[in-house]
Amino acid sequence: MTCTWSPEHYREILESARAEGYPIVKVSEVGTALPEGPFFLVRHDIDISMEAAHAMALLEADMGITTCYYVRLHSPFYNALAPDHAARIREIADMGHEVGLHYEPGYYESMGQQVAEGIASDIHTLETLLGGKTLSVSQHEPSIGPVVKILPEGYPCAYQRHLVLDTKYFGDSGFRWREGCICEKLGEIEQIHTLIHPANWMRDAVPWEEVLRRHAKTAAERIHRLMEEHIVSQRAYLARRDEIDAARRARYDS
Ligand SMILES: [Zn+2]
Ligand SMILES: [Zn+2]
Repeated sequence: MTCTWSPEHYREILESARAEGYPIVKVSEVGTALPEGPFFLVRHDIDISMEAAHAMALLEADMGITTCYYVRLHSPFYNALAPDHAARIREIADMGHEVGLHYEPGYYESMGQQVAEGIASDIHTLETLLGGKTLSVSQHEPSIGPVVKILPEGYPCAYQRHLVLDTKYFGDSGFRWREGCICEKLGEIEQIHTLIHPANWMRDAVPWEEVLRRHAKTAAERIHRLMEEHIVSQRAYLARRDEIDAARRARYDS
């Protein structure tokens, strides 16, 4: 196995975990206490690309594997509440993955909000989007943020002590493992928690800076496509405006 940041190597990692006999567990399943025996907890924080997250969710579902995806409501790079991205989030949940809030203490603080209130409010918004209760949460940028001690009841956080200190934890943040690729840990360590950012893996074989620029290009292409659709609809509206205005006036009287 050659370690690359690629969908192919990610698939190999999952195949290896399966061959080694690891149950792949979700945060909600180990959120209150650690079970006995081996497990591979795979968690995805959707930091910058909904498209990459959706592609990774499909890759896993294709293998019959379900994991955890955490959604930001304040990402500058995607809009979880826009119709197309909301649809993707619902599709990820429909595949059987656990979807939860990737809460952003820095955002709440910058808005003068209490962190606990911001989290509760965002969970409510995400659950409205999904049409059901979510089961867990994960913190965005925990290394530079506060350790949030008060979380809403019933929403275990992926960053609790027992999941990141008592369990061996390996994250791919910044396209750099601190202790070598996660594939080397499988079969060596019994209980593993890994953070896999979809945008780091669902990508072309180019340097990481270029990977991020290409995600920006994908985001820009989405806006261009939506704007072209908006132009078409504006033209259609202008062509029929008198008729539409008359119909609107008539609705006041009906
Ligand atoms: Zn590897
Ligand atoms: Zn994050």
